[in-house]
Amino acid sequence: MYDVAIIGGGVVGASIARELSKYHGKIVLIEKERDVSLGATKANSGIVHGVYATEYGTLKGRLAAKGSPMFQQLNKELNFGYRKTGSLVVGFNEADHRKIQKLYYNGKKYGENDQDLQLIGAETINKLEPHINGDVKMALHSKNVGVASPYEMTIALMENALANGVKVFFGQEINKIYRRENDFKIQGENQTFEAKYIVNAAGLYSDRVARMAGIEDYEIIPRRGQYILFGKDQGHLVNRVIFQVPNEKGKGILVTTTFHGNFMIGPNAEEVNDRADVSTTKESLKYIIQNARRSISDFKLNRAITTYSGIRASVKEKDFIIEGDRVKGMINLIGIDSPGLTAAPAIGEMVREMLKERGLILNKKTEFQPYRAPLFHKKEEDFEGSTDHQEPEKKVICRCETVTEEEITESFRRGLPVESIQAVKFRTRAGMGQCQGAYCRSRVKEIIRREQGGYKENIPMTSHREEPKVHKVDIKKIRKMDV
Ligand SMILES: Cc1cc2nc3c(=O)[nH]c(=O)nc-3n(C[C@H](O)[C@H](O)[C@H](O)COP(=O)(O)OP(=O)(O)OC[C@H]3O[C@@H](n4cnc5c(N)ncnc54)[C@H](O)[C@@H]3O)c2cc1C
Repeated sequence: MYDVAIIGGGVVGASIARELSKYHGKIVLIEKERDVSLGATKANSGIVHGVYATEYGTLKGRLAAKGSPMFQQLNKELNFGYRKTGSLVVGFNEADHRKIQKLYYNGKKYGENDQDLQLIGAETINKLEPHINGDVKMALHSKNVGVASPYEMTIALMENALANGVKVFFGQEINKIYRRENDFKIQGENQTFEAKYIVNAAGLYSDRVARMAGIEDYEIIPRRGQYILFGKDQGHLVNRVIFQVPNEKGKGILVTTTFHGNFMIGPNAEEVNDRADVSTTKESLKYIIQNARRSISDFKLNRAITTYSGIRASVKEKDFIIEGDRVKGMINLIGIDSPGLTAAPAIGEMVREMLKERGLILNKKTEFQPYRAPLFHKKEEDFEGSTDHQEPEKKVICRCETVTEEEITESFRRGLPVESIQAVKFRTRAGMGQCQGAYCRSRVKEIIRREQGGYKENIPMTSHREEPKVHKVDIKKIRKMDV
């Protein structure tokens, strides 16, 4: 019998698990995939948003405002990768100017000061961003915006939660929930769990999980966003996250570098019927390129390395829904779309309080260990070049990202199962570079087979209800596009 069963191992579920691991109690996190972070959390912009961006008075605004300043300390403890970069929301005309002013006043309502949030003109913009498109006339400059590595954050949260006593089960898609007199029976793929409380953090599928407990009226509206990722050699084109003014579909197309320094453009926002369809399409990518060029015009399409998409778990209410009184003992997190990554640390604390108010006894552990050591070793210059004649522990496996064999095997010793090339990739960056794994894939596979006693072809992105669809536009076609 667990005290709390968390359903869903995205950044939200992992934040809750790590928060609860600070207290005595039996906590379990149950995930349908074979790793954490394979839902919306692995495919987003990775921006730790400024408060100005989310409407004042909303729950998502309140949680993002609380969550964003927590990243610095969290990253010190967990070493997942976070950097404050600042952002610009750029405008081209009078209509944009009005929208930018609205954002500025929205930020002011949250208490942003004049140092951190400023309206600036073309001259200042050019100094901050020398590659900005000459058509940009004004901008809102926020210093309180950063970039994080969302999947590494989730892995780090979960590794730390595990180290502090949380249990995790992968490959267990919850398909039935029985409410008993004082607790729940939860049916997974081939295992049954019993828990006094359930936290439904199932993201895109949270409405379906709620339905299993008898709550019929939540409805997720899946909204896909597509991206193009470029090599690090394009990263110098932009210093901050560059947004355009928001439109009715969301924050618009942004241009940024990722935490690891890759140039990135996207996402659009398109409603999709199929929650498992994370394909990319030529039309949407063309739209993204055209709009990104309005901010930074001179990026090189022939340096594009891959495309991907993620699906937002939106709701018609356009706000997070976090409720704990529909079914006694069950907390539902519905509609956690953007800025859910930014808000996640604050959501962890909010859910802890909700559980406490509903009777969960929370006594702090004196032995709680907040620190999680970084996985990345310092990359020394002499690691570069040929992989021949090197000591085994320093053998470079991924040449593009300079990932050593030692780093890969270290990722196996962190508590979470690492069974596929994808799991290694999200932990070490092997396969994330310009050649996208063409060089290292077979080597990584061999190391997994040798060290883990077996290898799984790929993490199955399957569900009882939907098979995944990942039809990506051929990157060669993107490189040749005349846009
Ligand atoms: C295109 C895009 C861009 C975004 N950009 C940003 C951004 O820049 N900044 C920001 O703050 N936020 C951003 N977001 C939002 C952010 O990514 C999400 O709010 C966040 O990742 C949600 O995390 P989650 O844990 O709720 O969901 P998920 O990451 O989807 O996790 C839910 C988990 O539940 C599991 N699951 C589902 N059903 C079951 C079941 N029946 N049994 C067991 N497990 C189950 C899934 O496999 C999944 O792992 C963006 C989102 C998208 C899609």
